[in-house]
Amino acid sequence: MDQLSAFDVVVIGGGHAGCEAAAASARLGANTALLSLSADKIGVMSCNPAIGGLGKGHLVREVDALDGLMGRVADQAGIQFRMLNRKKGPAVRGPRTQADRKLYRQGVQRALNDQSSLFIVEGEADDVLVADGHVTGVVLADGRTIRCRAVVLTTGTFLRGVIHIGDRQFAAGRMNEQPSLGLSKTLSRFGFKLGRLKTGTPARLDGRTIDWASIDRQEADADPVPFSFMTDRITIRQIACGVTRTTKQTHDIIETNIKRSAMYSGNISSVGPRYCPSVEDKIVRFADRESHQIFLEPEGLDDHTVYPNGISTSLPEDVQAAFIATIPGLEKAKILQPGYAIEYDHIDPRELHQTLETKRLCGLFLAGQINGTTGYEEAAAQGLVAGLNAARTSGGADGVTFSRANSYIGVLIDDLTTRGVSEPYRMFTSRAEFRLSLRADNADVRLTPTGLNLGCISSERQHRFEQWMNRLNEARELLKRTVPSRSELEALSISPRRDGAQKSVFDLLSHPETKLEAFEKAIPSLAAIPGELRETLEIEAVYSVYLERQASSASQLRREEERAIPADFDYASLPGLSNELKRKLSLSRPLSIAHASKIEGMTPAAIALILSKLKRRATVEEALSA
Ligand code: FAD
Repeated sequence: MDQLSAFDVVVIGGGHAGCEAAAASARLGANTALLSLSADKIGVMSCNPAIGGLGKGHLVREVDALDGLMGRVADQAGIQFRMLNRKKGPAVRGPRTQADRKLYRQGVQRALNDQSSLFIVEGEADDVLVADGHVTGVVLADGRTIRCRAVVLTTGTFLRGVIHIGDRQFAAGRMNEQPSLGLSKTLSRFGFKLGRLKTGTPARLDGRTIDWASIDRQEADADPVPFSFMTDRITIRQIACGVTRTTKQTHDIIETNIKRSAMYSGNISSVGPRYCPSVEDKIVRFADRESHQIFLEPEGLDDHTVYPNGISTSLPEDVQAAFIATIPGLEKAKILQPGYAIEYDHIDPRELHQTLETKRLCGLFLAGQINGTTGYEEAAAQGLVAGLNAARTSGGADGVTFSRANSYIGVLIDDLTTRGVSEPYRMFTSRAEFRLSLRADNADVRLTPTGLNLGCISSERQHRFEQWMNRLNEARELLKRTVPSRSELEALSISPRRDGAQKSVFDLLSHPETKLEAFEKAIPSLAAIPGELRETLEIEAVYSVYLERQASSASQLRREEERAIPADFDYASLPGLSNELKRKLSLSRPLSIAHASKIEGMTPAAIALILSKLKRRATVEEALSA
């Protein structure tokens, strides 16, 4: 057997999990190989050309705070930056950008090439070598082997992947790419529980055949906010995308042909992402809706391909062509590639420790879609954690884990490893009970210090971060020690407190309508606070009140975990609880709050509803027995 040089860590797969894993491992100084089927396809976006979004944008900011790649590259490739939920509170705002596919892939490859201690190896991993329960290397399909101390497996949708288009099926990892078969056998051989999930993608259209003039446009933000702490401003040209809708004819065609969809013909039995349904799923599940919105997203600045976001499908090609032609603006649109669904193997993530190392084999780490998640951002976040831990394991150091209390990364991994998945998992802000403190805007403050302790932060970022923190701390101190006099308050039309207690400018900024700019006129010393820190300080001040409340409700929740739930508890009549949770709770009948909180899809808000009903019930029972 031909043997390649030995490495500390081998990362299998050059998708979003694999690239972050390899880069993080190499940043810790581990000699790392990134093994992928095709070097040219490293960093490819398999489905939608966009990074970020609600909940997902938080993950990108956190990956960036730990010096990961995704945010920096998205800033170089983003062609339509938009802050989602801009009008809502900062905790639930979601930074998102459409990306130029080619620029994104090139940006990832450039970043990997520039990373020291990182080597790209082209080839297919076929098996993993194990001795005494510990991974010792990887066997490639061509017979070569690579010795190593830790392996990170990030094979995405490739494990026994099967593509479905109507009744046509063929083995593939993605369109025009071979599936990965050997590694599924390896995982089964070691006793891992494999499951099957599916996802889908829409047809790609030729933008030159779309009637753009007849449809609405959605513009990029005028002031694009970069993802990365290291990006000063976005310089790439920003573009608009088109907005159109399905019509009655679209729905009629899909309904008439529904049995020809791979999903409805019985050809696919595995579960797909509930929050990213196919167009046929939308029409069946939301039969009362007359129309569904579609965003027409150009895939690049010099690429005519358009991604019609909202109509992923596994209908046959002739039906796809027929229904697309009924959509305003797409009457003459040419299909460049049909939409399809793909089924693939995944592992039950409860097989993993919170370091993402498997419980069965020491030194084997799993990250990304293989763990039952969906999305580039979820994959990147796991890749980063797996890469850091693989590097630490290979050097004999302890594992590092992230808590739910200080990151969405922690929420993601805790959810996966304790609750498992029955459908592809994606991130939402509602999954985080401490979301008021886990904001996209403070990801650096929360996580860069951890990264500095771990040693995965570049000296350039460290310098920038320390300078920024010094200025932020000084400015916060100034706001806290500046107490406006009675006359200054009057000048600001703020009434002094009746009890005579004095409030600092920081306290007074806790009212969301009160802005620093207003104080500056009355108190000129505040003009010294730099512009780029102002919004951060205003947000901190507003949230400081809520954060105290959040900390006390979190400790109350911990005390309530042992509270028993009676067997006859009526979930069905609990207002505010989703039908999905009502069904799951009624079926599983958890014995306690702790038990209920482990149910997949359970949210902190739902737990609060159950608790409040339990307390009301206890009060009524007490009153009756008195
Ligand atoms: P991938 O990005 O798939 O990367 C896997 C990598 O592993 C590839 O580089 C591949 O070459 C490599 N590889 C595989 N096997 C081997 C092997 N044996 N040896 C060496 N290298 C190997 N996400 C959403 O959020 N919403 C959606 O609607 C959505 N739809 C999707 C539709 C389709 C058809 C597909 C394919 C994906 C879709 N995704 C969607 C998922 C998104 O693409 C993934 O979540 C994300 O890319 C996962 O990242 P990953 O790193 O885990 O895997």
